[in-house]
Amino acid sequence: MSATRAIWAAAAAALLLAACGGQGNSNGVTGERIAAADATPGEWLSHGRTYSEQRFSPLDKINASNVGELGLAWSFDLPENRGIEATPLVADGVMYTTSAWSVVRAFDARNGKLLWEHDPEVARATDIKACCDAVNRGVALWGGKVYYGTLDGRLEALDAKTGKLAWSTVTVDQSKPYTITGAPRVVKGKVLIGNGGAEFGVRGYLTAYDAETGKQAWRFYTVPGEQETDGAASDKAMKIARPTWNGEFWKIGGGGTVWDSMAYDPDLDLLYIGVGNGTPWNRELRSPGGGDNLFLSSIVALKPETGEYVWHYQTTPGESWDYTATQHIVLADINIGGQTRKVLMQAPKNGFFYVLDRTNGKLISAEKYVPAVNWASGVDKVTGRPIETAGARYEKNLHLSNPGPLGAHNWHPMAFSPKTGLVYIPAQEIPFPYMQPGGDKATFKYRPQGWNVGVDFLAAGLPDDEATLKAIRASLKGRLIAWDPVTQTEKWSVTYDGPWNGGVLATAGGLVFQGSATGEFAAYDAGSGAKLWGFDTQTGVVAPAMTYEIDGEQYVALMAGFGGGFAVSAGAGVDPRSEGPRRLLVFKLGGKQKLPARPVSTKEFMDLPAASGTPQQIATGTAVYASNCGVCHGASGVSNFSIPDLRYSPTILDADGFKRIVLGGERKEQGMVSFSGLVSDSEAEAVRQYLLDLARRQQAMQAKAKAAAKG
Ligand code: CA
Repeated sequence: MSATRAIWAAAAAALLLAACGGQGNSNGVTGERIAAADATPGEWLSHGRTYSEQRFSPLDKINASNVGELGLAWSFDLPENRGIEATPLVADGVMYTTSAWSVVRAFDARNGKLLWEHDPEVARATDIKACCDAVNRGVALWGGKVYYGTLDGRLEALDAKTGKLAWSTVTVDQSKPYTITGAPRVVKGKVLIGNGGAEFGVRGYLTAYDAETGKQAWRFYTVPGEQETDGAASDKAMKIARPTWNGEFWKIGGGGTVWDSMAYDPDLDLLYIGVGNGTPWNRELRSPGGGDNLFLSSIVALKPETGEYVWHYQTTPGESWDYTATQHIVLADINIGGQTRKVLMQAPKNGFFYVLDRTNGKLISAEKYVPAVNWASGVDKVTGRPIETAGARYEKNLHLSNPGPLGAHNWHPMAFSPKTGLVYIPAQEIPFPYMQPGGDKATFKYRPQGWNVGVDFLAAGLPDDEATLKAIRASLKGRLIAWDPVTQTEKWSVTYDGPWNGGVLATAGGLVFQGSATGEFAAYDAGSGAKLWGFDTQTGVVAPAMTYEIDGEQYVALMAGFGGGFAVSAGAGVDPRSEGPRRLLVFKLGGKQKLPARPVSTKEFMDLPAASGTPQQIATGTAVYASNCGVCHGASGVSNFSIPDLRYSPTILDADGFKRIVLGGERKEQGMVSFSGLVSDSEAEAVRQYLLDLARRQQAMQAKAKAAAKG
């Protein structure tokens, strides 16, 4: 070896040591480190582990032959009693993760010692702007800083060593119903963050900020605004988008929020973003007379340094069902027809699995990954457009669609194993009856503090008798599907007791990990789907697991805690086993830690007063509840989570007290803002009478069931 080469080798070894060992890496995470993640498989540096977001780990010490010995190494009890959706990141021996209410924590990844905690103190009243719980999906790392978004629309940078705030910038107009729940990504020194709010009425966009200073670099709007130009990176692209819209869509924003998925190809230097649904959902009300409404429900490719538009593919033209294309995007190079193709894969809410050529956005193939999909019969290979079913747009009549707004696959990340060539999809069936408010003469009035989706939620409300609810619960399905993206066929699947199961992790150990809504964290054989291991997490799981290795020991980490859109809105559609304590759980081979016994639910109906509500009052209360209250407190008053289940709440016993909360905003600090602008005095009382009536009927049914059980 020449002297020069020896020096280079020593320098490279030192660099590698700095990258793998200790907590002293002064350069922090860089694009090179993320791009070369397979050289340091022990770490998990970016949301989907690599820029390709495959959620595949090359680690194999835990594998199909020994996973039976997997046990709890350490755990941390999360005080935030909401949905837990984050993927922890691990760099230089430290684990960084987020909890509900955008709280960030750093742990010693070996033993779970809490190193620091940062609470952005999001006002609890922000919850009224969040469609789907006060969740957060994680952090990004870059150059010694930790980046995360807050529910109230801030992007913040923390010192990775101390958790101290380095900079904070407000990325949204906080007077509007914007929220942030997604994890930022960092590409070429720019922190990328989108937002949510399309159920309420906002205009979607993605913004890039300088990682060092927090200064805005560019912004890409996904839908046109009132003005021809915004002076933004998207100005040119809006020339393509604007002719696909009609009417005064911009008045309530149009939607198209970029609330979750991003991926990056360093070779092509293309950033891919997933764009959400329209506001309102119903196109007839959003863009009268039709139109594709670009770039709703599209995958858009951009240049990461400038935000310049490169290409787009729209999965659901003229979106009308909340069929977002914000679901997890995976990049891979796979062999199709004897050729290695650079593909982008997505299983969006609409139920079709898309394989696109990521160099140009052209469709390679698309097939239903859930057979029950009924809004379209297929995707035309030439035009790339769906072949819609007559009546699916519910212009005249109710259409019972599958999927519904919660999707055949929601945000819960899938995983791709280059070893098996399979994509593992957390799929589900949650049908939904779409109907226009006002039937075939649709009426729509913007409500400043509510959902603005242009769909009749009363028609979609759950019934409240236990037998029907049981039947509905049985119709809700969840499966882990191993999907071959080349042949577009299912290789195997695991059936769960219901929908809304966790995200997925695939490993080189031949394993696929997934937690379920009923609280089992399981490992499956990646090739056959055989269950090899299971652990009772004591709570429904929605987040995906991740894995890392330190000092030769491989760990598997999972944020456990049920919540999110289905949990807060489906009420009695949720399996009661989903309720439980929120925790960070970390496993290793031979781990011996035990969780304390599972807490027992103590829900009991109160002593209820004699009925006083008139049938008219109860009918009014049912309608007012469905359009104002149900999306948080649960359809038909059934909430299994930390948002109070009003059937059990003493607040419904006191007419004046109830009004002080609903109209007076007495519990604003806890997140229950005043509805005085939307609900009248007599309507508030009608809602109270409806809830009392519900509680009475269900109490009577419970008593009957108990008596029957005693025989
Ligand atoms: Ca949505």
